Amino acid sequence: MTIIKCKKCGQEYAYEIWGTVTPGGKERETANCPYCGEVGYSEMTSQFISSYKLDSEGNPDRRKSY
Ligand SMILES: [Zn+2]
Repeated sequence: MTIIKCKKCGQEYAYEIWGTVTPGGKERETANCPYCGEVGYSEMTSQFISSYKLDSEGNPDRRKSY
């Protein structure tokens, strides 16, 4: 889990890369800001990227992903 700050709206959020690494089948996956939708990170990968808002203690809120 990585925490980054959105360069557009300034909100901090978390993203993680998950899923099985498979040879080939790579696509551009992006971590989008949960608040404004700005792309904060992208990578060519066969895995998936989910992003999460942070709760009041700074922990990722896993109940909803973006
Ligand atoms: Zn944002």
